[in-house]
Amino acid sequence: MPWYRKLHWQIIIGLVLGTIYGIFAAANGWSKFTSDWIAPWGTIFMNLLKLIAVPLVIGSLVSGVASLSNLSRLSRIGGKTIGIYVMTTAVAVTMGLVIVNLVQPGKAVPEETRVSLQEAYAEETSQRDSAANVARERGPLQMIVDIVPDNFLAAASENRMMLQVVFVSLLFGIGLIQLPHDKAKPLLEVFDSLADVVIRLVDVIMLMAPVGVFALIAGTITSVAGDNPAQILSLLSALGFYMACVIGGLAIHVLLTYGVMLKFLTPLTFKEFYSGIAPAQLVAFSTSSSGATLPVTMERVEEKLGVSEEISSFVLPLGATINMDGTAMYQAIAAVFIAQAMGLDLSLAQQVTIVLTAVMASIGTPAVPGAGIIMLVIILEAINVPIQGIALILGVDRVLDMLRTVCNVTGDATVSTVVAQSEGQLARVELSEEGDRIRIKPTLE
Ligand code: ASP
Repeated sequence: MPWYRKLHWQIIIGLVLGTIYGIFAAANGWSKFTSDWIAPWGTIFMNLLKLIAVPLVIGSLVSGVASLSNLSRLSRIGGKTIGIYVMTTAVAVTMGLVIVNLVQPGKAVPEETRVSLQEAYAEETSQRDSAANVARERGPLQMIVDIVPDNFLAAASENRMMLQVVFVSLLFGIGLIQLPHDKAKPLLEVFDSLADVVIRLVDVIMLMAPVGVFALIAGTITSVAGDNPAQILSLLSALGFYMACVIGGLAIHVLLTYGVMLKFLTPLTFKEFYSGIAPAQLVAFSTSSSGATLPVTMERVEEKLGVSEEISSFVLPLGATINMDGTAMYQAIAAVFIAQAMGLDLSLAQQVTIVLTAVMASIGTPAVPGAGIIMLVIILEAINVPIQGIALILGVDRVLDMLRTVCNVTGDATVSTVVAQSEGQLARVELSEEGDRIRIKPTLE
């Protein structure tokens, strides 16, 4: 197949053209035209993806769980998955802390820039502060209470409630296992075909991806730059070191931490992994939402990386909601950066508090654009840094959001291959007589 027919190249072309158009539109004051006529196509693309996320999780998770022969296997896979998720997030936060303490980007922000940023973003800061109220008022066990809905339809009607949908689907699947096979069969077949239909729909929706991505990027640039792109340049020069820390940290985590996991714990080569997962990464970059990207991640991980449906249907929806390495690392770097810029020294105990709260906060961060900065408010409070400090970083948050979402999605995909391999459910790769790598699907017991 010629390169330009490959999905990820088509999306990259959409992304590049969208960026060029966005910059051109901002420079020429076309923001009204862009938001009226271009951006809606991006919203349609994103809505289509969100639309199929809930049916996909229900269909694949119920049929995945019901196909398990016993419950102890489910709890083993569950324990392993959550354990790896928490561990990789802790590694990400710690790495972020080391980087920000070494580079000290906050010390590079001149006093007058700090004051003018705080004035410019005062109103947006107080909006984030009130949005954080909901999270602030939660008791210690609220996180667990939130997983159990009192009404399934209400949970399924709200994309942010994905963890509740995961919980109900698990419960339903467990119920199905208890039934005699002939009773369970009709329902099982329904859920199984539901999952198959939705996976096919991902292919259909992805036909629109290049256009959708073009529109999303053009819309984002317009909304961030408005008709005054010069403002972006001045932000970039003040916050360049901070951004470099976040971007460098994310890159190291993706290449090193996930790289080591892929190399030593799975048979996949980097090329196989990245060419398989690239469309999901590009969609994550343009939508800034791991929730909206979930259907694409599931389709790619199953069809291109060879993870069984049973594993991917459990590990990926869970990961999209609780595993946010990129977000946690960004929160740690941002918290210390703000403290440095405000001239506050953080003690070791405060830095340890950052690790704990960032791991918890990233678990509770919804998989939607801009959620990470709201949870940052909670972290700043835990270490007694004035939350007005987020005014410093609001101006460049969107682009960092796009990048941390890519890291979040890549982390989910990596862990799904690791868990699948450890359960003997990753397609084996063997060399054919001609030396080509061929994938052999595992036979499930
Ligand atoms: N946008 C991120 C995600 O969906 C969350 C965040 O860090 O804001 O993964």
